[in-house]
Amino acid sequence: MSTAHLTIDLSAVADNWRQLDALTSVETAAVVKADGYGLGSDRVARALADAGARRFFVAAAEEGAKVRDALGPGPEIAVFSGHMEGDSDLIRDHALVPMINSADQLLRQFEALPGAPFGVQLDSGMNRLGMEPGEWAALRDLVLGERPVLVMSHLACADDPEDPMNRYQLETFRQMTDGLTVPRSLSATGGLLLGPEFHFDLTRPGIGLYGGMPFEEAQPVVQLDLPVIQIRDLAPGETAGYGNSWTAERPTRLATVAAGYADGIHRAAGAVREVFAEDTPCHIVGRVSMDLITVDVTDLGHDPAVLSLLGPAQGVDQLADAIGTIGYEVLTGLGQRYGRSYIG
Ligand SMILES: *Cc1c(COP(=O)(O)O)cnc(C)c1O
Repeated sequence: MSTAHLTIDLSAVADNWRQLDALTSVETAAVVKADGYGLGSDRVARALADAGARRFFVAAAEEGAKVRDALGPGPEIAVFSGHMEGDSDLIRDHALVPMINSADQLLRQFEALPGAPFGVQLDSGMNRLGMEPGEWAALRDLVLGERPVLVMSHLACADDPEDPMNRYQLETFRQMTDGLTVPRSLSATGGLLLGPEFHFDLTRPGIGLYGGMPFEEAQPVVQLDLPVIQIRDLAPGETAGYGNSWTAERPTRLATVAAGYADGIHRAAGAVREVFAEDTPCHIVGRVSMDLITVDVTDLGHDPAVLSLLGPAQGVDQLADAIGTIGYEVLTGLGQRYGRSYIG
């Protein structure tokens, strides 16, 4: 084995969905955009459909096509980016449901796919996607006459329960949608955890399914094992890696490990990261190369066959904290070169 190996626990994904579902009395969808947060939207979506998910969200129509191929007919697959120019065939052929974001998209939908199912995305203050209150007021009767399957909006600050933006957006969304008979959705993982007021008819968790914060009770989903290719001893004063950026200060046993920046282990973060031999942290030393890193295993007392970048000792969010990012970016930044296996 000369490439790093990513193990994805699909039963943990399914359990996380069930746990989130149990926190509300409404329907729970599943967000599988960005190829299922980097873990393979086909496998993830099938596992979630088996667990009972009936509605899936993706960012782009192309992603929706892949999920449709994996799931077959039946489950609803909705597209956050709505109905973009050039998407009509994909949307029709794969029975996708665009979340319409603007008057232009609405026109495109009605012209290209009259009578086809669609939803509407409203902007309640995030200023990213969706119709703003004025636009919605002007189009609302027209839209409602065509029976949208969902009206939705998205929270900007839901990972912080104390942020006043949450309540502001809740009120705005209510003003825009109270009294409608159309199903409503406001919350992703963070909003779901804010409580029943935020649940409406449907929640749309993504990161929580994949074991990420802010869902603290999530089960870990990924394990990333890096094979050790070579082990050598360095005398004090010897250096390692490109640019001689690291110098041994003591007799050092150094493991050369098969994973680098081409696998998502970013150079920028080189100095701070640790990999683990079981539970024992070992420091990455020297610069990260394209395919290799070097790790100080002196204190281990044995030569490991693999070192884990992600696993029980270092989860997605711990790694994210260490390198100054968020769990979402760790997951979607996982390299494509890894051998992958799915368990559960
Ligand atoms: C990504 C996304 C979600 C899922 O968010 P998580 O924080 O991963 O749960 C839900 N809704 C929209 C509009 C999104 O863009």
